[in-house]
This record gives sequence, structure tokens and C-alpha cells, in this order.
Amino acid sequence: MNEPTITPRTVRNFMRALQGMGVDSYLFDEGDRMTLSKLRKEVRQCRKCPLAATRRNVVFGEGDARARLVFVGEAPGEEEDMQGRPFVGRAGKLLDQLIERIGLGRGDVYVCNVLKCRPPGNRDPEEQERELCKHYLFAQLELIKPKIICTLGRHAYNTLLGVDERITRIRGVLTTYRGTPLLPTYHPSFLLRNQNRVNEAWDDMEKLRQLL
Ligand code: SF4
Repeated sequence: MNEPTITPRTVRNFMRALQGMGVDSYLFDEGDRMTLSKLRKEVRQCRKCPLAATRRNVVFGEGDARARLVFVGEAPGEEEDMQGRPFVGRAGKLLDQLIERIGLGRGDVYVCNVLKCRPPGNRDPEEQERELCKHYLFAQLELIKPKIICTLGRHAYNTLLGVDERITRIRGVLTTYRGTPLLPTYHPSFLLRNQNRVNEAWDDMEKLRQLL
């Protein structure tokens, strides 16, 4: 039987996957340098806003720690709160389909939310919660340094750009966040409720494919 071939690329991809899961600090001595896994540990302890009292798990985010493309949603839902992972329910399946449309898989991108803890009853994030939590998102983007950011829904867009826009006004319009191209599209949960909008999201994925 042939032994599997281990190439430098295989090792690199394996290390990246470990970093995305937050276990790089067990493998590398990072000294004082902030890393995604150190940030993850910090966020897991966070009790800055009232959502800490009702969450089951902190949902930090996951994926390739050096992803060229980062998706940012608004907050964990019930399933995400239970599993501690972003976009794992029905909306997550649709997000996977959107990512496949670009020719990528979930492991090729990074996925996270503005809020790292679930708002009870899946209500919208409150202004104070976004203000307190957004610095973790800013830090994640600073560490990953993606080539493109895709925001899902209005909350992620408004938080990153410090504006108050409706998604139907800004969807598909390319802009920048701190110099990085940012393309806003619909949140998969919105698409599940408004299937007549799915074609617009497909168009956005095509745009992302061309930009990558
Ligand atoms: S939502 Fe954010 S700010 Fe609030 S407790 Fe969770 S991690 Fe901390």
C-alpha cells in the first residue's frame, strides 16, 4: 500500500487549520504577540455585557486564521450558542452554499460575528452590546488581515463602518473597511425568509470570486 505523500503545503494547511481552531499556542511559542488563540481565550472570559449571564457558550469564530476572505455575521443563534460555533444551523447550511458558489469551502474562509454571545430569543443586537463587543471583531480582522471582508446583514456592516444603513440600500455595493475591500450582502437567515432575494446574493458571491 502506498504511503500518503506529506508535502510542505499539506503541513502548512494542517497548521493553519489548527490555528483556526485556536490551538496554535500549544504548538508555537508566540511570546507577547497577540494571536487569534490568545484573543479567543480572552473573549471566553469576557463578562463585559449582560449577554454573559445568559450565554451557554462564547462563539468566537472559526476557519482559516490566514483566510483571504472573512464573513462577518451579527450574533450567534440558538444552535450556535449550544455548539459554540458560528453558522451551524439552517442559515449555516445556506452560508456553505454561498461559499461554494465562490469555489471555496468553509475551511478556506474565516467566519465570525459582531457579538460573540447570543442575544436571548435571537433578538437584534443592542447598541451597547455592539459597542462593547466590536473591539474583538476589529482585533480578529487585524490579526487575520483578509484580502476581502463580506458582511452578512446590516449589523455587521453598520458596526464596522460606524454607520446606520439599511441592508437593501447598501447590499452589493463595494466599499472599504480600514483599507480592506468590504462587500455587504444579505444575512443567510434573511435569505431563508426572503427567497426571492437569493439571486442577488449569488451575484455578490460572483463578485467576491472575481475580487479574490
Ligand atoms: S457579547 Fe461580547 S462583550 Fe458581551 S459578554 Fe459576550 S464577548 Fe463580552
